[in-house]
Amino acid sequence: MSQPALNSLDAHLKTLHLAAIRQHYHPRAQAAVEEGWPYETYLATLIQEEVDRRTRNRLQRRIKEAHFPLRKELADFDFAALPQLNKQKILTLAQGHYLQQAEPVIFVGAPGLGKTHVAIGLGLAACRQDHRVRFYTVTALINDLHQAQAEHRLPKFLEKAGRHQLIILDELGYVPFSTSGAQLLFQFCAALSEQVSLLVTTNLPFSEWIRVLGDERLTSGLLDRLTFRSHILEFRGESYRFRHQQQSLST
Ligand code: ADP
Ligand code: MG
Repeated sequence: MSQPALNSLDAHLKTLHLAAIRQHYHPRAQAAVEEGWPYETYLATLIQEEVDRRTRNRLQRRIKEAHFPLRKELADFDFAALPQLNKQKILTLAQGHYLQQAEPVIFVGAPGLGKTHVAIGLGLAACRQDHRVRFYTVTALINDLHQAQAEHRLPKFLEKAGRHQLIILDELGYVPFSTSGAQLLFQFCAALSEQVSLLVTTNLPFSEWIRVLGDERLTSGLLDRLTFRSHILEFRGESYRFRHQQQSLST
């Protein structure tokens, strides 16, 4: 086999989008010579660096595309502050099996108890498992749905949403919906409920959902979709922020 010209290596690596190999092949070649690596070890080292770079980039992309409003990790969640919360259940959810079955998750509880924090933490865990995740506040989703409908691209919007494994719908119940908003939300959940895990956080017990949704049939339809095979977690206790404020005032 005739030897290819070394001076085309850079260009070829660029063409093939092998940025990590391009960055490292020269210094690793020096190390290989100095330390007497077999050729295969040199190759394996470079390939590993390329794979690592791609894994890192993909994770960054997954996180960016999820549009989390904040970066909140489960590891930073103080479970001791909410002893009634089923910690084991949340840690099990973080392993991601519910995503394979498109099971819904509902967090119910008063504001300030960490629902959004845990939802984002589960979202990040799903990104690390290479799942596609999207975070919305319910209000923002309904705005997007209205806009998609006005522009006659609702089917496309639903189809794109269906490519995710997890969609977080934060803060159901804070703002009441218009009739069309409630219908669009129902349509969204109905279209996705068996394809994508929907994680809903709400301050309202189920019996009060009708207050924000406005329509009994729609509410029961939505509850039906969201509670079938679902993981329901209740957040009960004292507001974390409030408690910390109290503590810092008293010290
Ligand atoms: P909710 O969504 O239930 O209203 P958040 O998740 O927004 O509550 O929590 C309010 C703030 O308090 C956030 O900054 C969150 O990180 C923090 N927080 C709440 N509970 C805890 C906890 N148990 N451990 C650590 N931080 C917490
Ligand atoms: Mg919240």
